[in-house]
Amino acid sequence: MISTQFEYVKAGSVQEAVSLLAQHGDAKLLAGGHSLIPAMKLRLSTPETLIDISGIKELSGIRREGNQLVVGAFVTHRTVEFSQVVKDSCSVLAEAAAQIGDPIVRNRGTIGGSLAHADPAADYPALVLALNAEIHVTGPSGERTIGAEDFFQGLFETVLADDEIITRISFPVLASGQGAAYEKFPHPASRFAVVGVCACVSVDKGKCAAARVAITGAAATAFRATDVENALTGQPLDEKTIAAATQQIADPADLNGDMFASATYRAHLCVVLARRGIARAATNA
Ligand code: FAD
Repeated sequence: MISTQFEYVKAGSVQEAVSLLAQHGDAKLLAGGHSLIPAMKLRLSTPETLIDISGIKELSGIRREGNQLVVGAFVTHRTVEFSQVVKDSCSVLAEAAAQIGDPIVRNRGTIGGSLAHADPAADYPALVLALNAEIHVTGPSGERTIGAEDFFQGLFETVLADDEIITRISFPVLASGQGAAYEKFPHPASRFAVVGVCACVSVDKGKCAAARVAITGAAATAFRATDVENALTGQPLDEKTIAAATQQIADPADLNGDMFASATYRAHLCVVLARRGIARAATNA
């Protein structure tokens, strides 16, 4: 299908993008276009104006700031995948970015676009939750920082206001004794996550000092498996503990079921992928 007609404008700075959003009532920011354009072609989204943010320098680049890894919102999945700073600071991000879609999607799609779109089958939501990331946004009244925990509200829904733009995402650098891993069961055609699990554990004197386990693909929005995290904390991260902690993660009644995977199958995938992810995160610690 062909999208409805729209006006196209290009923003040169974050401030200009925010002003353009305020000026044009029914406008959408255009990043990589790999979610927005398909939605427009299906007429699921019919913005009157597209504000291209590809020329905004402030949204690009990946850098270390103390114990934070800061990723610009317009950074593509491919850049994350191959970034040495990411590999040195929080390698699970590169590991996950490498599993997104195909090379064309990774060349164009951006981390900010992925988070703003909040597709229930996207990979990054599990990463930002498990890694305790913060999402920095700018709107007409200035900047605010949103913890990953508070960012996702539901299916394709976030706390972002219509006139706000994500500028960067900061991830705590993995400390010594901390390890993380991402396990994904990809849809065989799109590579979207049927289920994806990101586990991040801290190990001290052979025991789990803290754990964060987040799941995407399974439900309307990514979520943390807090019961699993609590069951792991204080225990040695051996096969027996991990198996006991992950016996049941989610009730199929709360999960998505579709022509690709029933809710019961997704519940099973949560268990299998969480076991693998936690074991690998422990090995990486
Ligand atoms: P766009 O499509 O440009 O924008 C998406 C939405 O975010 C729009 O509403 C836009 O206004 C808004 N937006 C964009 N940038 C910002 C910003 N900085 N601040 C505020 N709002 C913003 N994703 C996965 O996670 N895993 C996969 O395996 C996967 N497979 C894919 C396979 C295919 C065939 C396709 C087409 C896509 C796939 N994707 C997958 C999605 C892909 O990663 C998208 O690129 C991504 O979700 C959206 O990023 P984008 O830069 O393309 O955003």
